Amino acid sequence: MKQCELPYVRFDYEQAEKKLGEIIEGITAAKSAKEQFEYYKQFNSVMEDYSTAESIAYVRFTLNTEDKFYSDEMDYYDEIGAKVSAASIPFAKAVVNSEFKEELQKYVSPVAIKNLEISLKSIDESIVPEMQEEAKLSTEYKKLLSSAQIPFDGGVHNIPQLGKYCNDVDREVRKAAYNAMGQWLKDNGDKFDDIYDRMVKNRDIQAKKLGYKNYVELGYYRMGRNCYSPEDIEVFRNGVIKYWVPFVSEFKKRQAEELGVDKLYLYDNSNVLKKGNPEPIGTVEEIFENGKKMYEGMSASTGEFINFMLEHDLFDVIARKGKSGGGYCTAFPKYKMPFIFANFNGTFDDVDVLTHEAGHALAFYEGMKNIEDPQLQSGGMETCEVHSMSMEFFAWKYMELFFGERADEYRRMHFEHAVDFIPYGTMVDYFQQKVYESPEMTPAERKQLWLDLEATFRPDICNDGITYIEEGGRWQYQSHIFERPFYYIDYCLAQSVSFDFLIEMHKDYGKAFAKYTEFLKKGGTKVFTDLVTDAGFDSLFSENALANIVAELRKLNIK
Ligand code: ZN
Repeated sequence: MKQCELPYVRFDYEQAEKKLGEIIEGITAAKSAKEQFEYYKQFNSVMEDYSTAESIAYVRFTLNTEDKFYSDEMDYYDEIGAKVSAASIPFAKAVVNSEFKEELQKYVSPVAIKNLEISLKSIDESIVPEMQEEAKLSTEYKKLLSSAQIPFDGGVHNIPQLGKYCNDVDREVRKAAYNAMGQWLKDNGDKFDDIYDRMVKNRDIQAKKLGYKNYVELGYYRMGRNCYSPEDIEVFRNGVIKYWVPFVSEFKKRQAEELGVDKLYLYDNSNVLKKGNPEPIGTVEEIFENGKKMYEGMSASTGEFINFMLEHDLFDVIARKGKSGGGYCTAFPKYKMPFIFANFNGTFDDVDVLTHEAGHALAFYEGMKNIEDPQLQSGGMETCEVHSMSMEFFAWKYMELFFGERADEYRRMHFEHAVDFIPYGTMVDYFQQKVYESPEMTPAERKQLWLDLEATFRPDICNDGITYIEEGGRWQYQSHIFERPFYYIDYCLAQSVSFDFLIEMHKDYGKAFAKYTEFLKKGGTKVFTDLVTDAGFDSLFSENALANIVAELRKLNIK
C-alpha cells in the first residue's frame, strides 16, 4: 500500500480511554510479572494505533496545510494529545511501582522502565490544559511560518524556496534574499515575539506547577534524557568554545580569502566555495534512481530498505504552495512504514533528503522490523540524529552519482558545514537555556541575548546591515526553538559522534559501516552514552573528547 492509500481513521479517544482504563486496572491487579507484561503489550498496541492515526493526519496536513479536513484533524490531535500523554501516567506508574519489578525486567528492558520513570517526571494531569495550549501555540507558529509569501526575483516564495537565493553564487543576490526574508520576518516580528513569549511563559508555568525551578529541568525530562544532564552539556559547551570555535575560525579565514571579501556576512556563511555550492545533477527522478543505486551499493539491508521506500511511495519531496516548509521523517508504526517529507529546491539540500532523512528512515525501518518493544525502537533524539548524520558521511563514497565532477567540492562543503554547525547548534541550545532560566525577559532582551551569543560562538560572522537579522531576529525562523525546546543540542552531540564515524570511515570504510549498522540496529535498547562507548568512542562529556575529535579531523585534511 502507498502512503496516499493508507486508510485514515480518526483515533477515537473516548473508546481508547475505556480500553486504557481496563489495561491499567489489569496491570495493577495482575498476579505476576508475566501477566503484567501482557497488559504492557496491550498498552503499546493502543499507543501504536494512536501514533499511526496522528502521524497520517500530520503528514497529510503538512502536505497541504490548506486542506480543511486534515487541518481540523490536527486541531483534534492537539486537543487529545495531552490527554493521551496524561492517560499514560497511571500506566507508567503501574510499571515503575510494580511489585514484580525485578521479574518484570525479564520481559521489559530496564531502559524502557527508566524511560517510563522519566516520563513520569515530565507530565502530570495538573498541566494538561497548559500542554494543550502549548500544542496550539506550536500549530500557530507553524501556520505563521508556512504562510510566508516573500516577493523576490519576480516571484513569490516561501522560506525554503527562498533558500536557493540565500546561497546564490552572486553575493548581491544572496544579500538581497536575506534582506527580503528579514523584511518578511520584521513585518511579522510582533507575531513571532508574541507566540514565543506565550510559549516561554506557558512552559515556565508547567515547570513550576510540577515543582521545578524553571523549564530547563522539565525540558530535559521532556526530551526523555536518560543519561546526561545540563552539567554534562556544560562540559560539552565549554569544549565547543575552547576547541571548536577556533577550529571553525581556521575555515572561515580561508573562506573569506577564497571569496575575496574582508569580512564574512551571514549571507556568505554557507558559501564555502567561490564558484558556488554544487547542485545535484539530473531530474528528481534521476536523483532517486541514483539514491537507489547508492543504497543498493552500501549493503544488502540498505538495498532492501530503499526498494521498500520507493515501492510504497514513502517520499514526498516536491515543494508546492500550501505545503509546509522544512523536512522530516516520521513513521506509520502499524504499517511498519517510515515516511519522508521534504521540499526540493534544486540545491544540495535535496541530496541530504536521500542521506540524512533516509538515515532516519532506515533506523525506523530496522527498528520496527527487529525490536519488539515499540518504546525502544528508536531511542532518544541524539541517537536518531547519529543515524542520519552519520549516513550523510557514509554516502560520501557515492557523491559522484549526484554531483559528477564536483563531488570533491561537495564533500568539502558538507564537511565545513558540519564543522560550522556545532557552535551554531550549541548556541541555539544555550539561548534556550538562558531564556528559560529568565522567563521574564522581554522580546528585545531575547534578541540582544542572541546577538551576544553570536559574538561568542560565531565571532567570524557579521550580521550588520541585514534587515531584522542585525536586530537579533535570526532565531525566529529556527523552528526548533519554538516547537521543540532543547532539541538542538542533540544535533550537536550526534554531529560529534558522526565525526567519530567519519574518522573511522577514513581508516576502513567496511569496518566503520558495520559498526554504524550495529549502532543503528540497537535503536533505543541502550542509552546514548552506552551506545557511544560500545562503539569504542570517547564520551562526549569527558574534558578532552572534542579536542581529540578536532585533532583527528585536522589530520584528515579535507579540502
Ligand atoms: Zn534529523
